[in-house]
Amino acid sequence: MSVTQQQVLDSLARIKSPRGVALTNANVLSPISASDGKVFFSINVDAAEARAWESIRVEAEAAVRAIPGVTTVMVALTAERKPGSAPPPPTPSRGTPGVQPVHAHKPPQGGGSPMARQSEIPGVAAVIAVASGKGGVGKSTTALNLALGLRDLGLKVGLLDADIYGPSVPRLTGLRDKPELNNERKMIPLRRFGLAIMSIGFLVEEETAMIWRGPMVMSAVTQMLRDVEWGRLDVLVVDMPPGTGDAQLTLAQNVPLKGAVIVSTPQDLSLIDARRGLAMFRKVNVPVLGIVENMSYFQCPQCGTRSDIFGHGGARHEAEKLGVPFLGEIPLHMAIRATSDAGNPVVDSEPDGPHAAIYRAIAGQVRDQLKGVIAAA
Ligand code: ADP
Repeated sequence: MSVTQQQVLDSLARIKSPRGVALTNANVLSPISASDGKVFFSINVDAAEARAWESIRVEAEAAVRAIPGVTTVMVALTAERKPGSAPPPPTPSRGTPGVQPVHAHKPPQGGGSPMARQSEIPGVAAVIAVASGKGGVGKSTTALNLALGLRDLGLKVGLLDADIYGPSVPRLTGLRDKPELNNERKMIPLRRFGLAIMSIGFLVEEETAMIWRGPMVMSAVTQMLRDVEWGRLDVLVVDMPPGTGDAQLTLAQNVPLKGAVIVSTPQDLSLIDARRGLAMFRKVNVPVLGIVENMSYFQCPQCGTRSDIFGHGGARHEAEKLGVPFLGEIPLHMAIRATSDAGNPVVDSEPDGPHAAIYRAIAGQVRDQLKGVIAAA
């Protein structure tokens, strides 16, 4: 039995909000996601009011759970701090001592040029973003394998999973532990494959729906960048949230990026999205290190035959047209999917294979473009 948004709204309309009107008329609800019996939405209120709304959140969750056909329900209470107001009361964050509620962190403020807001991360020579115009194009897989390729070139590398809408680094690395804190109460990144790794997925439960608004995205990412003991790194690879909306733009403005790699599939649509990504980074003066075409062609796992099922060469052509480097083509191959999803990325698990060689070649081009920055550090 499928559950509709209207059914959810009808059940929420029966709940009275602290503002004296029905919850549905209180102007606090995010769009409702209802599919396959799974319902997610958030109640967005000012931080000062958050306590008063917690019981409403619980009530809303119970009301939706009672709708026949609902299997999972997640209602997030998201509190935003108004500029100049007091910080919201601390909320414990599921057993990770000392981890601030993400909304308690104020994004760095700064007027004038977007670059004025940025400050370097001590010990980290170059922060680079891996971005895509939309989800599902293999951005995270590329980010991790690129990080491993850079590692293979002898660099000290970290990976920050800033894809807070759907953090996939826990799945891609097999890491599930919660980071410990050092004496300065900074989180110590987890280590695997010789990388320092941090993901919002280490801090919140997997089933938790991530419904974030722009300022909160920035807060979460700022915390993961600056409240983490990254140590000395040549390159910190940031797996960005997909898309080119306000949240991404704010991120690109606030994180001291030395460059961005854009991942695209050959389909036109995602190339259009990739173009938007390019425009976004250019707007905030972040150099685009190049475009990677992922799922570029299908390579049969049995016979190795190549089929250009999506058409081919679109991203290379696009890169030429746009005047940015084309970094390489990664085939759609079973081994890449299987190793990624099993937590054994292909560059690490099959280092002598053809896919690892492709990622390393991409990493080589990225390293060459960052050479000056890394050497200076
Ligand atoms: P995104 O970060 O863009 O949402 P992911 O990296 O999570 O995408 O990849 C989405 C899915 O596609 C995953 O199951 C991943 O294993 C698979 N995938 C990514 N790149 C490839 C590839 N080149 N060949 C085969 N499968 C791939």
